[in-house]
Amino acid sequence: MRRLLTVAALTAATALPATASAFCRTWSCDPRKEACPADPDNPACYQGGDPKRHKRLFWPQKCIGFSLNQAASSQLGTDPFGKFQKVADTAFLQWQEVDCGEGKKPTIAFADLGAAECDLHQYNSSQANANLLVFKSKTWPYQGAENQLALTTLTFNVDSGEIYDADIEINGTQKITAGDVEVVNDLASILTHEAGHFLGLGHSPDGEATMYREYVPKSTSMRDLADDDRKGVCSIYPPDRVNLPECNPIPRHGLGTKCELPLTDDKGSCAVAATCGDQGGDETCAMGPLPRSSAPWFALALGGLALLRRRRS
Ligand SMILES: [Zn+2]
Repeated sequence: MRRLLTVAALTAATALPATASAFCRTWSCDPRKEACPADPDNPACYQGGDPKRHKRLFWPQKCIGFSLNQAASSQLGTDPFGKFQKVADTAFLQWQEVDCGEGKKPTIAFADLGAAECDLHQYNSSQANANLLVFKSKTWPYQGAENQLALTTLTFNVDSGEIYDADIEINGTQKITAGDVEVVNDLASILTHEAGHFLGLGHSPDGEATMYREYVPKSTSMRDLADDDRKGVCSIYPPDRVNLPECNPIPRHGLGTKCELPLTDDKGSCAVAATCGDQGGDETCAMGPLPRSSAPWFALALGGLALLRRRRS
């Protein structure tokens, strides 16, 4: 039986070897429900999994469409949606334009499908969907994770690791800035990082990488991918990937820009809900239902970007 598991991107902080420098994949493993051993190919990937039971997550197709919540955030000043869209387009484009060697690009490409009314992260297994980017401006719904800047939720097939849906929530209760003037928490850095989670990358132990788990306020360095990030995307989506379906950026079961209800599951799936986040370097994970608790899936948080409070010495 095919089952679905929704993974909300989270982050777990453990002491990491300072010298390790290799990207990490996201696995279909919930560290609160089961043992998630280190990736056998990269012991620094502390959110790894057991290849016999778990899968590495990936998009099976080349073309992926994303949608942007039409409200964007009033924090962004004039034309907030326009700024949101420009920053998001640039963030995703960076990943697809990587040179994997000899000028060849990864076999992944994004399409901006425009504005969406929906402001919830969700996946419909029988109705239209959107891979949504949305600011949560009133409250950040993840208790104990107020320090998180964003969270990416992946819904995937647990038998294959194929990603079906990805949603990026941005913590609009934090000061978020777009542009180069008076940068506080840089939207471009945040979205470039979350786009990495969207693709199936976890947190890298490489402090130079965009996929490093902590953001230094006022910094813009995560806007630009590092070698480690490039290796990551080229590893998951190598240029020579074959038998790809015809390029179609429309989400699974069609594009839905409104929050479609009810959420039903066509395969009797079950899943696990969890929200995890960095709290100044301490690991904080909590199990709990998603806000939409009638959903038959649960979420495993796998990669929010946290504000840096204090580096461990
Ligand atoms: Zn992250």
